[in-house]
Amino acid sequence: MTQENEFMVCNRCAGKVKTGPVPEGEVFIGRKSWGYFSGKDTREDEFVLCESCYDRLLASFAIPAVKRYRNEVM
Ligand SMILES: [Zn+2]
Repeated sequence: MTQENEFMVCNRCAGKVKTGPVPEGEVFIGRKSWGYFSGKDTREDEFVLCESCYDRLLASFAIPAVKRYRNEVM
């Protein structure tokens, strides 16, 4: 039995993150379905960020993102 490695590619830096079957990292997946009150009328956007690009995005915020910590990790 062989399991193919699964990778996700960061949209910002094009870096590959191994997400399975034994993950070596995690990615952020952003999804937005724009509606009629936006300038993007019904467009759906989706992108992936590796952890370091996610950190850079958060570091660019004028107001820091809210961070909460779970008691347990699955
Ligand atoms: Zn990246």
